[in-house]
Amino acid sequence: MARAHQGPAGQDGDDLLDLLDTLDIDDGTPDGSAPMPLDELAVLARSLMDQHGLHDWAFAWDRAVRRAGATRWKSRTISLSKPLMLRFPREDARDTVLHEVAHALVGHRHGHDATWKAKAAEIGARPQRCFDASIAQVDGDWTGTCPRGHTHSRHRAPKHAVVSCGLCAPKKFDRRYRLTWTWRGVAVLTPGSRVELVGDDAWRGSRGRVTKLLDTRYAVTLDSGRRLHVPFDLAASARR
Ligand SMILES: [Zn+2]
Ligand SMILES: [Zn+2]
Repeated sequence: MARAHQGPAGQDGDDLLDLLDTLDIDDGTPDGSAPMPLDELAVLARSLMDQHGLHDWAFAWDRAVRRAGATRWKSRTISLSKPLMLRFPREDARDTVLHEVAHALVGHRHGHDATWKAKAAEIGARPQRCFDASIAQVDGDWTGTCPRGHTHSRHRAPKHAVVSCGLCAPKKFDRRYRLTWTWRGVAVLTPGSRVELVGDDAWRGSRGRVTKLLDTRYAVTLDSGRRLHVPFDLAASARR
C-alpha cells in the first residue's frame, strides 16, 4: 500500500492542533465548496483520527476513483482518494474522514448498519451519506459518444471497442448507435483500422493495422510484421 503521505510523523495531538490553528483550517462549520489542499486535509485527517483515539492507525492516500475513502482494519489504515479529494468540497472531505473513522471505531462487521450509523452521528459524520458508493464520479480518460450525443465515460480502454450506446439501444448492439471513442480528447480508431505512424522517429511513415486498444496506446502490427505500442496521437488513419 502507498504510504507516502501519512501526515507529519512524530507529532502528538497537541502539536497537530497547533498546526491546525496555524493553517487556519475550518474544522467545523462548512464554508464554501472549494476543495481543501491535500496537505491540509492530511493534517486534518490525522487530527480527527487522533481525536477519536486512532493513534495507532496510519493515514494514507490512494488513487481510487469509485469511492472517496477506505478503512483497512488489518493494516489499521484509513486512506482517502487523492483524485476525489481534489474535487470534493472541504465539508465533504471532512465528512469522508469521519465516515471512515466511524468504520474504524465500530469494526468491519458492522458495515453501514445501525451501530455504524450511531457512531457516525456521535462523532459528527453525516450518517445518511455514504461515499463508499460512487457519489462523485471522476470522469475517465475514455469517452464514448453516440450519434445522438450521449457520452459514456470509462477509466480503462473499452474491452469491446465496437459497442452501441446503452441509452439508445439498451437491449442489444445496434450499429446505428455505435460509440466513437476518444482518449483525453484524442479520437481513437477501432481495432482493424489501417494506420500510418506519424511520430517523429524511425517509424514515421510506417503502415500497419490496429490490433487492440490498450489503456493509453494502440497495439499495432506493422505490415513488416513488427508489433509496436503506439500513443493514440502518433497513429493516423490510413486508407490502405
Ligand atoms: Zn462506508
Ligand atoms: Zn445514445
